[in-house]
Amino acid sequence: MKSVPVVGVLAIQGGVREHLLSLEKAGAKSVTVKTLRQLGEVDALVIPGGESTTIDKLARKFGLLEYMREARAAGMPMYGSCAGMIMLADHILGAITDQESVGGLDITVERNAFGRQSESFETGISITGIREPEREFEGVFIRAPWVNSAGESIEVIAKVNSGVHTGRIVAVRSDTLLATSFHPELTADSRVHELFVEMVRKA
Ligand code: GLN
Repeated sequence: MKSVPVVGVLAIQGGVREHLLSLEKAGAKSVTVKTLRQLGEVDALVIPGGESTTIDKLARKFGLLEYMREARAAGMPMYGSCAGMIMLADHILGAITDQESVGGLDITVERNAFGRQSESFETGISITGIREPEREFEGVFIRAPWVNSAGESIEVIAKVNSGVHTGRIVAVRSDTLLATSFHPELTADSRVHELFVEMVRKA
């Protein structure tokens, strides 16, 4: 893999710009992905936060979902934050009728598990595998999902470690897939994106 991988950010709905900036900071070249052709030109893909039902619907409408599944199955690294985590989950609790995902992570995620928009919150999170892991990461949770259960192929890399939600799984990875309930792209801390770029280099 090139030392400066090209990482696409799925740009059909949600917080695209912030991921582009975080990826550049983490040492990747970042580009938006809206079409099949653009998907074919990237080494890896970020699926941003937003609304998973809308991202799914539009991805299917544009004929992208099927190809995202194929690219993922062929080993393309993907990182999903919040709604993106839902898009990478094999099983969704609280899905709307007919909601689909790219899948790939053997996890069950629960949509809106932390509550409504007004219950959005921030909390320090310890994440395994990032640079300077002893320094807590600022977890920004906005109508976020959590991971109810994870299969054996999944490494849990972060849980909430204080407050009423202590113990809830909020970040997971496999060899090529990474997902966080929270939004690292909304902070100035690029360590989660660095971890992903490292995964892309190794893939
Ligand atoms: N609740 C949203 C969903 O189900 C996710 C929220 C977010 O990405 N900030 O898609």
